[in-house]
Amino acid sequence: MRTLREHGALSRAQLAVRSGLSKATVSSLVTDLELRGLVHSAGVSAGGQGRPGQLVDLRPTSVCGLGLDVHVGHVGAAVTDLSGELLFHRRVACDVPGIGPERAIDQLAELADTALAEVKGAVGPPAGATVSVPGLVDRGAGIVTFAPRLRWRDVAVADGLAARTGLALDRIAVDNDANLGAEAELARMGGAVDDLVYLTGDFGIGGGVIAGGKLIRGSIGFAGEIGHMAMDPLGPYCSCGRRGCWETQVGLGALLHACADPDDPVRDPTLDLDQRMRIVRSRAEQRDRRTLEALHQIGTELGHGVSILVNLLNPAVVVLGGYFAALPEWLVEPIRNEVVANVLAPGAGGARIVASGLGFTAATAGGALAALRRVLDDPTVVPAGQPNVDDEEAPA
Ligand SMILES: [Zn+2]
Repeated sequence: MRTLREHGALSRAQLAVRSGLSKATVSSLVTDLELRGLVHSAGVSAGGQGRPGQLVDLRPTSVCGLGLDVHVGHVGAAVTDLSGELLFHRRVACDVPGIGPERAIDQLAELADTALAEVKGAVGPPAGATVSVPGLVDRGAGIVTFAPRLRWRDVAVADGLAARTGLALDRIAVDNDANLGAEAELARMGGAVDDLVYLTGDFGIGGGVIAGGKLIRGSIGFAGEIGHMAMDPLGPYCSCGRRGCWETQVGLGALLHACADPDDPVRDPTLDLDQRMRIVRSRAEQRDRRTLEALHQIGTELGHGVSILVNLLNPAVVVLGGYFAALPEWLVEPIRNEVVANVLAPGAGGARIVASGLGFTAATAGGALAALRRVLDDPTVVPAGQPNVDDEEAPA
């Protein structure tokens, strides 16, 4: 299935060559996947050398992946089909720290039900759901250990969702937002990059580190908390209780505080983040002095931290996610200047600084992809002989 996902439709003979399996094994696997509705016939190969063969391809509509997102200011959901195409994406404003975990999980469950109801008929059932959370996660137990910005400690998210939705507990995963975003970016780069650092760019700043093509999780899964690198011992207090953490300098709160007064619409928590970023963008385009100064300051402080990461990890790419991705014209240059000045390796070790193409959707899209990985890892999680929605027969 991974081979088909990478290369598109192939004959059984081509699949055997690319996978290194025997033709007989490939044929029996294809038959099994057909019974599960995960692959289907896709015409006849044009020929070339050897006999023309019947092509096999993934059936993108056979199953879907559900990505869910708990954020300081909203809950979100995304659904992708097996090919990774986004079928549904929505955010609902929600004061998560204010209403507490139980009510936040109520809202998340309601949005999950809505998402699945909206794609029903166009795509098969969910292979699984992955919940993205800005904090430390015990993935084995599906528990958020500590998420300071949400004010959550030891919240059993997977259990809570399973109790409120029709989703089975063993199909619900919980993961850190930066890790999911990093994996989504890695997938978008399609194998061109093996070493990247992804920054979440939100009220909190998380880091997802991919080294040698693999996500770095650390000994107990808590790696990547770069937003809490201590940058200024006398700096402002952080949500974690310490002082001068990097996210107090470059988090969304720092930008909004620097560029607008409290009654300004960009500081209105009921407005969607994309909308607020569009206002900041348009002010920067009109060369509003306060906005430009704020962005230059944030870019410079971002550059300090990114320099540390580049010295430490020598990534090929540093991906700016979240709100950073909405403002690259004003942030990338000051970051670049700091990185060139502070990194030992000539030319910053080749590190490119780029804006994410996913913005605030990275964590939910990454969650949906992670949920689909269950099927790629083990296609038998999809039962055989189930009636499935077919591409051709799908209602418009
Ligand atoms: Zn902190």
